[in-house]
Amino acid sequence: MSLIEIYSNPKITHHLAEEVIESAKLFREKKGRLPILMEVCGSHTMALAKSGIKGKLKEHVRLIAGPGCPVCVTDQKAIDAMIQLSEKSNVILCTFGDMVRVPGSHSSLLKAKTNGSDIKVVYSPFDSIKMAEDHPDKEIIFLGIGFETTIPALVIAVREAETRGLTNFSIWMSTKLVAPVLRALLLSGEVQLDGFLLPGQVSIVTGKQSYRFLSEEFQMPGVITGFEPVQLLSSIRKLLIQLHEGRSEILNDYTYVVKEEGNPVAQHFMEKYLTCHDEEWRGMGMIPESGLILKEKYARFDAKKKFNVSQTPPKKTKCRCGEMIRGVLTPEECVLFNKGCTPTHPIGPCMVSSEGTCAAHFHFMRED
Ligand code: SF4
Repeated sequence: MSLIEIYSNPKITHHLAEEVIESAKLFREKKGRLPILMEVCGSHTMALAKSGIKGKLKEHVRLIAGPGCPVCVTDQKAIDAMIQLSEKSNVILCTFGDMVRVPGSHSSLLKAKTNGSDIKVVYSPFDSIKMAEDHPDKEIIFLGIGFETTIPALVIAVREAETRGLTNFSIWMSTKLVAPVLRALLLSGEVQLDGFLLPGQVSIVTGKQSYRFLSEEFQMPGVITGFEPVQLLSSIRKLLIQLHEGRSEILNDYTYVVKEEGNPVAQHFMEKYLTCHDEEWRGMGMIPESGLILKEKYARFDAKKKFNVSQTPPKKTKCRCGEMIRGVLTPEECVLFNKGCTPTHPIGPCMVSSEGTCAAHFHFMRED
C-alpha cells in the first residue's frame, strides 16, 4: 500500500484510534488519571482539532496545545514595535498574513494600514527582496516571525540582498527556537506532562538529535510526527506504548522527511549568518538563548539596529493567550472565548492565527 493509500484509508484511521483508546485505558488503570500529551506545533493543534481526533480522544487522552504557533508566541511589545515601525515614513512593511490582525496595545497592523501605513502581505521573504529592488527610494522591512522552519528562508533572503547589493532591505528578527522553550516549560513545572508530540516541519531542519535532552535530562518521551490523522494517531499510540513500558525515548515517526541530523545545509547557513540571543515570548517572558538574530557582520540587514523604535510597556488586556501557550488553560476557560473574542473579532493572537488554539477550538470543537 502506498503512503497516500494508507493516509486516506478510514479503516486504518479507525483501527489506530481504537488502539490509542486501549493504550490510554491501560495508562489510566495504572495511574488513575488520563495521560497528558502536549502537541508542540500549532499546525498539529489545528490538524488534531480539524480531523476530530481531539474530540474522539477527549475522554481518554488529554491533548494540550503548546508554544508552537509563531504568531501566538510573539509578545505584545513586539507587535507594538512593529506597528510603530510601519508608521515611519518611507517604509514598506512586509509580513505574513496572520500578523496583520493581531491586536497590539492600542492598534494592529491592519488598523495601521487603514490609517495609511504601507503594509504588504507577502508569502515569502523573497517577495520583499523583489520589492526592495522595485522601490529603491523606500526602506523595505520584512517581519521575521517564525521557528526553525522559517528561519532558513530569512537567512537566504539576507544572502540574496547581500548578493544583489541591496541597502534598503532589512528584517525585523523575532524568531523563536523550539528546544529552549520546551526546556523552559519543563523547568517551570507549571504543567504536568507525560510526553510530547514533536513538530514535523521544525524537525526537518533541526533533526531528531535536537530533542535528545528531553529524554536524557527530563525522562520525557517524544515522538516527531506528521500532519495526517494516521500519522498523529500512530505517534500518540507510540507515546502511550512508551509510557506503558516505562520508556522515555525520542522517536521519529516522520522518517521520510526528518533525519537524525536534520538539514545540514540549512543549519550551515543559520550558523553563518545568525547568533543565539535571549528572546521574549508571550506568556513566558525572556527565555535564555531562545531566538536567533543576525550576526554583527550583517547588522545592516537588522531592522532593530537600523531603525529606532521605542519599546513601551504593553497595555494589559483580559486575553489569556499567555496561559494558553504554556498549556495551563483551555480556550473554554477564557471568559472572552466566543463572548467578545471570535475569529471575526479576535482579542488575542490565539484566535487570529490559523494555527492558534482558540481558533482551532472555535472552528472545530466548541460545544454551543
Ligand atoms: Fe485570548 Fe480570545 Fe483566546 Fe481568550 S479566547 S485567550 S481573549 S484569543
